[in-house]
Amino acid sequence: MVSVMWFRRDLRLEDNAALKQAIDESEELLLLFHVNPDQFLGEDSSNQAAFFKSVDTFRKEIENSGGVLQILYGDLEECFKRLKERVEDWTDVYVNRDEKGYGLQRDKVAGLVFKELGVKTHAYYDHHIHPAHEIKTNTGSYYKVFTPYFNKWKELQKPNVIEVNFNAAKIRNDLLFKEDAKQFESFLTNQLPLHELELGTKAATARLDHFVESFLNEYKEARDYPMKDATSHLSKHLRLGEVSVRTVYNKVKSAEPSIGRDTFIQELAWRDFYNMIYATHPEQKDQSIKEAFRQIEWDNNEENFDKWTKGLTGYPIVDAAMRQLNETGWMHNRLRMITASFLTKDLLIDWRWGERYFQEKLIDYDPASNIGGWQWAASTGTDGVPYFRIFNPTTQSEKFDKSGEFIRKFVPELKQLHGKKIHDPSKLTVEEQDAHGVIIGQDYPAPIVSHKKSRELAIAAFEKSKKIT
Ligand code: FAD
Repeated sequence: MVSVMWFRRDLRLEDNAALKQAIDESEELLLLFHVNPDQFLGEDSSNQAAFFKSVDTFRKEIENSGGVLQILYGDLEECFKRLKERVEDWTDVYVNRDEKGYGLQRDKVAGLVFKELGVKTHAYYDHHIHPAHEIKTNTGSYYKVFTPYFNKWKELQKPNVIEVNFNAAKIRNDLLFKEDAKQFESFLTNQLPLHELELGTKAATARLDHFVESFLNEYKEARDYPMKDATSHLSKHLRLGEVSVRTVYNKVKSAEPSIGRDTFIQELAWRDFYNMIYATHPEQKDQSIKEAFRQIEWDNNEENFDKWTKGLTGYPIVDAAMRQLNETGWMHNRLRMITASFLTKDLLIDWRWGERYFQEKLIDYDPASNIGGWQWAASTGTDGVPYFRIFNPTTQSEKFDKSGEFIRKFVPELKQLHGKKIHDPSKLTVEEQDAHGVIIGQDYPAPIVSHKKSRELAIAAFEKSKKIT
């Protein structure tokens, strides 16, 4: 009898719940990845490029261990029917289940196909420390606010690392669908190259070790300053499943006690929290969670949106952040908060536009965390920033990029500027502009909106929506 281990966003051979069971329970095992064109985001998408680069890295890791990752390319139902025709004695499939969004819908469709084919599905929780349904209030409902959720989260026993004995598996290693593999390879050649991006379990583990050794202790103080670059950068590896969150948690937990360690663990709990919120509010991809803010009259000015995406708003910290995203596929957390606040409050543009732009660009794109982060910044989520407490991009810049080093790195037009005015170059006198080689409105844009005015308009729009509802 043949079993299939169907990898999706769990691209690793270590600490993998479904893979362990598949190895322990199967006579012969087929390792498989299904490329579904329904999910493609376009060739400009760094999210997509990173995802498939990771699949390719994983394929090579498996080959180095003497196995083969079978690629199926095309419509899901057609692909699995083809597999059954080819491998008649295929009886079981092992997966790490998705609890929400696209993955959940896909698993529902796949479940029906497997049933029709007479294949038994074995599904495991693997992506989070605590799955969505596990943490409830004493009255059996789901939490809406992070702090009480986290208090409960802390009390619960944490899962250990799962030992996987990959060498014990009898892996089928003849490539079954050569045409599909070829199609995948030609698809890969059309993706953004992302040369600098190191992916795979080895890179993820090295990153984790380096972070724990060099940054964990100071994480609480340093994590808010983009130029210090003192966060773990594990989000892309977690999103792709190149490292298990259990491995991350247990490694960090076993480090010397510190406020940094506790703060980092709290961030892993935020990841669980947003997973729970998305699983329990499936409508939140397309709708604000807070009913009171579903009637906001967004301005949705396309020209302003375009300037925001390109980093041409005239607010240097916002522009530097957007350019970091466009150039690297990643953005520092503090900057995600600043740019999301700027889009939704200063430009009064619908948070869903921003969420979709981040989806296209982020190499660590995770729907639950992204939607959660956007709804937090837009004040429309369950536990968002209050709508009247609006980030001032200039003071945020002065506080978190005091010397302007981060701005100079990503906004070369301003690289000659030192001192306070780098945070608001519209304040430069004509003489100063000449002296620093930057003419405002020509070399670098004047602010596209006035923060003071926009703040008033945003508060009025939120209050109006509240009244209508
Ligand atoms: P670290 O500071 O090292 O944190 C460690 C890990 O904790 C992260 O890798 C991540 O898995 C988790 N984490 C940290 N902060 C958060 C948070 N606020 N919410 C959920 N999990 C968190 N994170 C994503 O992984 N994918 C996204 O698509 C995403 N979109 C976001 C959009 C907005 C508007 C905002 C405000 C935040 C978003 N975040 C997202 C959360 C956060 O910005 C990133 O997880 C973090 O910047 C990743 O860098 P890091 O791995 O160095 O983080």
